[in-house]
Amino acid sequence: MIMETPYWWEAAKPETCENDLPQSVVDVAVIGAGYTGLNGAITLAKSGKSVTVLDTELPGFGASSRNGGMVGNLLKPGIGGLIEDFGEERGIAIAKEAISSIDYTRQVIEQEQIDCDFSLNGRLYPAVLKKHLSSMAEESEKRARFLDAKEDILDHEQVKEDVGSALYVGGIRQYGTGGLHPAKYAKGLAKAAISAGAYLIAPCKALEITSTSSGFDIKTGKGILKAAEVLIATNGYGENLVPFLQKRIMPIGSTMIATEELDPDLVATLFPTNRVIADSRKMLSYYRPSPDGKRVLLGGRPSIFPAPAERQAANLKSRLTEIFPKLEKAAVDHVWSGYVAYGFDALPVIGTHKGLHFAMGYTGSGVAMSGYLGHKAAFQILGKTEGETAFDGLPFPDRFYYNGQPWFLPLAMIGYSIRDRLGF
Ligand SMILES: Cc1cc2nc3c(=O)[nH]c(=O)nc-3n(C[C@H](O)[C@H](O)[C@H](O)COP(=O)(O)OP(=O)(O)OC[C@H]3O[C@@H](n4cnc5c(N)ncnc54)[C@H](O)[C@@H]3O)c2cc1C
Repeated sequence: MIMETPYWWEAAKPETCENDLPQSVVDVAVIGAGYTGLNGAITLAKSGKSVTVLDTELPGFGASSRNGGMVGNLLKPGIGGLIEDFGEERGIAIAKEAISSIDYTRQVIEQEQIDCDFSLNGRLYPAVLKKHLSSMAEESEKRARFLDAKEDILDHEQVKEDVGSALYVGGIRQYGTGGLHPAKYAKGLAKAAISAGAYLIAPCKALEITSTSSGFDIKTGKGILKAAEVLIATNGYGENLVPFLQKRIMPIGSTMIATEELDPDLVATLFPTNRVIADSRKMLSYYRPSPDGKRVLLGGRPSIFPAPAERQAANLKSRLTEIFPKLEKAAVDHVWSGYVAYGFDALPVIGTHKGLHFAMGYTGSGVAMSGYLGHKAAFQILGKTEGETAFDGLPFPDRFYYNGQPWFLPLAMIGYSIRDRLGF
């Protein structure tokens, strides 16, 4: 029987924080206890602010304890796209900050002594088609030129040094990126936030936020929380709490499976260098060994329309078998889903709206960026120059046809599937 909870929760299940609302006005209310909110809360509490963090469910319950744990530094538009959209100086500055988000993550993990299997072992981007490989190689060369990135462009044989699969024509090997155990990281952050003096209340949903003469009233099922400042850190789970954000952020589901325990020697032949992997398809698959080297985890979008968990697991399992035929008989014992968040420019955003601070929209690559922007947002609330970032003031467009329900997503996915099948 397949368990419909994240494999990661076996080692680090999110826990409740059954606290009452503070009676006095707090300096900052943080809405959302994922990586964004918890990193923001740590920075704020360490700066002497009184901080209350609310989460509808549990700390880390959202994407932060469900993700693939791949610590990456690439933004969706790529360095080429960033330079085209923002000019060379700003484009490079934005891309460099995404790279430094990994340094920030490493520092937090070290400072807070979070035991979360963090390793910067590099990442592989294997290409399914020659066409993919040449555009990936072009982008890699630009990263070398503009960002001094050290990467290897691999052919069909070389790519097998990192992945035990004959599926790929080549790939890009990246250094300085890697992986962690996402739920252990989330749990460690929650503990660090509490140690720093932040007050966590979960489950406790923010139902409505009203502006007052002295700050904000946040209505919850436990009463009203009064705060001078608010950080919205809800990413793909924000629903209609802040309509301005709801109109600009698309929640998009992503699903993962974990195999049963396998022979570690077999897993080592599939991942000879223990690198995390994300392939080049439009309907991409990302996969990795579990940190203990006993399982294989794979994620992606398993179906165009919603489907029962068992079917989603079967679809992802067939992708896994396509990559690794040796896993044909391996059973899947966990399947789970979560929401990532996309803005229409496919870039993370940080800013304020009507006095509310926000950071979100990590396009499925937020393990490092979310904590980094949560930390930056905290400095912005403190009015400190450390809060300045190249992400300040990026366009954050809405669309007349979008009001919080990405109804057009199945159409886009049909297009992507066709492109994958026809090899575009
Ligand atoms: C299946 C999956 C795989 C992924 N894989 C990777 C990966 O390998 N690498 C990578 O870099 N990124 C990955 N991501 C993305 C990454 O997990 C996210 O970008 C990151 O966790 C975002 O953190 P966050 O704190 O902003 O949001 P979340 O962790 O989603 O937290 C938001 C929180 O806000 C709370 N909330 C929402 N509304 C309210 C409210 N009204 N009141 C109180 N609380 C509220 C929610 O309960 C939730 O806990 C993946 C995501 C998913 C879902």
